[in-house]
Amino acid sequence: MDKIIFLDRDGTINVEKNYLYKTEDFQFISGVPEAIKSFNDNGYRVVVVTNQAGVARGYYTEEDVKVLHHYIDGELEKYGAHIDRYMYCPHHPVNGTGEYKCECSCRKPGTGMFEKCREYYDIDMDASWMIGDNKGDIGAGKNFGIKTILVGTGYGKQLREEGYDEYDYYASDLAEAARLINQIEVN
Ligand SMILES: [Zn+2]
Repeated sequence: MDKIIFLDRDGTINVEKNYLYKTEDFQFISGVPEAIKSFNDNGYRVVVVTNQAGVARGYYTEEDVKVLHHYIDGELEKYGAHIDRYMYCPHHPVNGTGEYKCECSCRKPGTGMFEKCREYYDIDMDASWMIGDNKGDIGAGKNFGIKTILVGTGYGKQLREEGYDEYDYYASDLAEAARLINQIEVN
């Protein structure tokens, strides 16, 4: 079976910037490439699940999203790390144009992107995790039925301080989340 780390992108992997799509604006949060490498080394598949409503809003295209993901792959390669698969939701229920304006099942906290992964992986639900910085990430992980970690990067720290507590675990960043998972797995 496949144990999977589902990872939010903006605010978890890279520094949150509104509607990021340009490669020159991309910046890893400190320790992230090393954390992803540790997941690779420990036998996890790493799958990015990201809401990209900027496509629906017409701020950038699906091609831009793919170009950025290709760029991330190249940057991770320098650390010997890799992401196994990228899933993104280009939709928005209200602020969208054409085919992108719809009530989809993939926009987190929906689980469509996770369900789609069943086509590629035999997901070990007990050994898989969702890590993200926002309510939608935690909600999606819980709706799918896997353990969740809120990271303090992006919006996470503020949410926690405001009393949000629906996550299973909290980690200051992805590097700490990786250590936490390793600890839990060993025990
Ligand atoms: Zn969608």
